Amino acid sequence: MPTEVIRVVIVGCGVVGAAIAYELSQITGLAITVVDRQPPAQAATGAALGVLMGVVSQKTKGRAWNLRQSSLRRYQQWIPALEALTGQRVPVNHQGILLLGFEADLSKWDALIATRREQGWRLERWTPEQVGDRCPQLSLNGITAGIYSPQDCQIDPTALTHALVAGAAKRGVQFDFFSPVESLEFANTAELADATQQRCVGVRTVQGDRLLADWVVIASGLGTTPLLDSLPPPKIDIRPVLGQAMRVKLAKPMGDRTFQPVITGDDIHIVPLGDGEYWIGATVEFPEDEPSTSLGHGNTPEAIAAHPAALEKVWQGAIALCPALTEAEVLHTWSGLRPRPAHRPAPVLERLATCPNLILATGHYRNGVLLAPATAEWVKEEISGAIGSL
Ligand SMILES: Cc1cc2nc3c(=O)[nH]c(=O)nc-3n(C[C@H](O)[C@H](O)[C@H](O)COP(=O)(O)OP(=O)(O)OC[C@H]3O[C@@H](n4cnc5c(N)ncnc54)[C@H](O)[C@@H]3O)c2cc1C
Repeated sequence: MPTEVIRVVIVGCGVVGAAIAYELSQITGLAITVVDRQPPAQAATGAALGVLMGVVSQKTKGRAWNLRQSSLRRYQQWIPALEALTGQRVPVNHQGILLLGFEADLSKWDALIATRREQGWRLERWTPEQVGDRCPQLSLNGITAGIYSPQDCQIDPTALTHALVAGAAKRGVQFDFFSPVESLEFANTAELADATQQRCVGVRTVQGDRLLADWVVIASGLGTTPLLDSLPPPKIDIRPVLGQAMRVKLAKPMGDRTFQPVITGDDIHIVPLGDGEYWIGATVEFPEDEPSTSLGHGNTPEAIAAHPAALEKVWQGAIALCPALTEAEVLHTWSGLRPRPAHRPAPVLERLATCPNLILATGHYRNGVLLAPATAEWVKEEISGAIGSL
């Protein structure tokens, strides 16, 4: 191990950047700075519902499943450790996810249940009658089964990100908010064997500050593509997919007060928050659906408009699942932009061949909260592996 301090700059303090900072803060000898143009947990993270569709997802092998299962396991350790370290509460709903099936052929669910059993995870298939018994708030109209996933959970993404920031700060990580990174700085160095390679030596902020680094981690979601513009192809093209959601309130919680899982059906999540309040969401709106709002070069993601009709469709879908929601008061609605990599699977976890000390941990699309711990673990392994081999 080298004895000098190794400087790491992380660009972006959504749930992914905060998770990376927290994880890296466990390695001694790193001087870590997180830079963001906003305070933590804004952008996509500030809009997310925090539903962790891991065991219940149809991903059963390869990277997609490995990241999911590793995140679920890691969260079990992270949450109590974070709460103890920071004294901050991170609300987690441990009552699982109940996914409603509407298809006549349930064989894909039976196959998934069998696979999960072999992998050491639990999933249960409930009849519509069992669904009605456990969750009497549900209309059973068209429901052919309930797939109950007791080991999946839901986490408040904003509280989580703030706790990760507080935990990382306690372990010495520096945070530099309201500092937009304008560009990355590169140098060709003799130490690199390949002449086509370059080194990222740091970042420059809009204010003109230079932050020098031995490692730069890009966790900037939709801010990624412009930052990497000067690099040779292939381009990393992260595009926005808009999501709208709402918070509603009933006089009392629906169904059995002691059993309040996340309910998901027809890609609509009903997330219990306690005291009769629920998050309902989210729409999935591609800019391609509306050519005039698509992101051209230089446009800002904020230019994408939310369509009220899309949110109304989700709301009516939620009422069809839980008719008691007709009585609910809508407290507020919001929208956010999911960072989705074009022409490749999410997320982008990559160390660039042309710039080996630049790590991309971005483009988590619909699952950034779910995949944050596994992403952080991967970044930690990349850096600690390289440091170890120096
Ligand atoms: C409505 C909605 C619901 C969702 N629900 C879920 C869910 O239930 N479960 C789930 O797992 N995921 C969900 N997601 C997806 C999830 O929100 C994202 O995948 C996740 O938040 C991505 O995190 P991130 O940290 O990579 O990006 P972000 O949260 O977008 O953070 C990126 C950060 O980078 C900063 N940044 C960008 N460019 C620069 C720059 N040049 N200089 C300085 N800072 C910069 C930004 O200010 C921002 O703070 C949802 C998303 C939406 C919109």
